[in-house]
Amino acid sequence: MTKTKKYLLKESEIPSQWYNIVAEMPNKPLPLLHPGTKQALKPEDLYPIFAEEVARQELNQTDTWIDIPEEVLDKYRIYRPSPLVRAYGLEKALDTPAHLYFKNESVSPVGSHKLNSALAQAYYCKKEGLTNITTETGAGQWGTALSFAAKMFDLELAVYMVKVSYEQKPYRRSLMQTWGAQVVASPSMSTKAGRKILTDHPTYRGSLGTAISEAIELAMETPNCKYTLGSVLNHVSLHQTVIGLEAEKQMEMAGEYPDIVIGCFGGGSNFSGISYPFLRHNFKEGRKVRFIAAEPASCPKLTRGVFQYDFGDEAGYTPLLPMFTLGHNFSPAHIHAGGLRYHGAGTIVSQLLKDRLIEAVDIRQLDSFEAGVLFARTEGIVPAPESAHAIAAAIAEAQKAKEEGTAKVILFNLSGHGLVDMSAYDQYLAGDLNNYALTDEEIAGNISQLEKII
Ligand SMILES: *Cc1c(COP(=O)(O)O)cnc(C)c1O
Repeated sequence: MTKTKKYLLKESEIPSQWYNIVAEMPNKPLPLLHPGTKQALKPEDLYPIFAEEVARQELNQTDTWIDIPEEVLDKYRIYRPSPLVRAYGLEKALDTPAHLYFKNESVSPVGSHKLNSALAQAYYCKKEGLTNITTETGAGQWGTALSFAAKMFDLELAVYMVKVSYEQKPYRRSLMQTWGAQVVASPSMSTKAGRKILTDHPTYRGSLGTAISEAIELAMETPNCKYTLGSVLNHVSLHQTVIGLEAEKQMEMAGEYPDIVIGCFGGGSNFSGISYPFLRHNFKEGRKVRFIAAEPASCPKLTRGVFQYDFGDEAGYTPLLPMFTLGHNFSPAHIHAGGLRYHGAGTIVSQLLKDRLIEAVDIRQLDSFEAGVLFARTEGIVPAPESAHAIAAAIAEAQKAKEEGTAKVILFNLSGHGLVDMSAYDQYLAGDLNNYALTDEEIAGNISQLEKII
């Protein structure tokens, strides 16, 4: 019998609704707080920054299913449904009885899952009559996705790109410019937040937190312009649930159900996207699937951070979010998985972790690249350095399954490919990468600066 390698859905099987897990969580996340008044946030409080529909989605705790607009579905069809792939090559190399599956989000034109939310957010901004949007980008993945989405919906986009990535990843910048966006290295002198940090630390090479502050400031001071965020927030996770909803149907085609679901973790959007549709069966049918978020050891908010109210950005412009955090002043080491260099975690994921409904592991940089290279040599796809963290966690589980002699079914999300990250692979292959893990002193130092609200 020939073995099926890929499970493919028809275009008509793209989900028509996103799954809003908050409506079904046993304990809902604590409210977002207004940074000034410390009162629970209402959607109207977010209207000055975000598209109104997105602000309502952010705080929607009651509707389990939210319709995907036809205009967004029309653009999803450019690359969705994405394939579910059985990783026979990787299984063989590991000599494991486990069945490994990955959902391949690298097939989007921008090379990552981020387009799933970028298209939705750009659409809502356009529908509301805006002409301009802003955002920040770390490794350049979100900026790239939003550049393409902005072009699809005829919006002007300005992207603040973390300076270290601007220098390390020139081709992501070129991609954004090719799709018509304006790209600024952050910190920049164009905003108060940028000027302040550059005056205090002239050689600072940027962080996501700083870039977010700059983009929000521009949105607040420019008419007809709003801000978009590519991770962390509830509405972003919501849009990403198309990944898991498709995967659910594809696992059914394969005649299997996952024992373990894994995603790499920056702010939580791709992990949420692959996990929540399966997690709902844990809630409703008492399934015992394990969910594992794989974060870098240099930025370990889930495994070693504290659960606290904290800001989403460096300057403190965002609402206060109840989350696992390393402190908003934390400046992560310059690992190549730029998309995972963020101090905090989304509020839903944080609550789920606190309630022990999901797990987290931390992965060292060299282990992630070793896993990434093995994946490339067995499955052909060079993974994004971020995605390589999920692969490393999946490999660890497959090795455990081998020791136990069990045919565990493991599903992970391949959040993106690494073809624009080859300078990182170059350095790995040359033996030039660090294997840094954050020290307890560094963590304690940052966390002690947080204001105690809970
Ligand atoms: C941005 C990014 C991530 C991390 O972000 P999440 O919101 O945690 O998903 C992971 N993988 C890729 C390829 C990315 O671009």
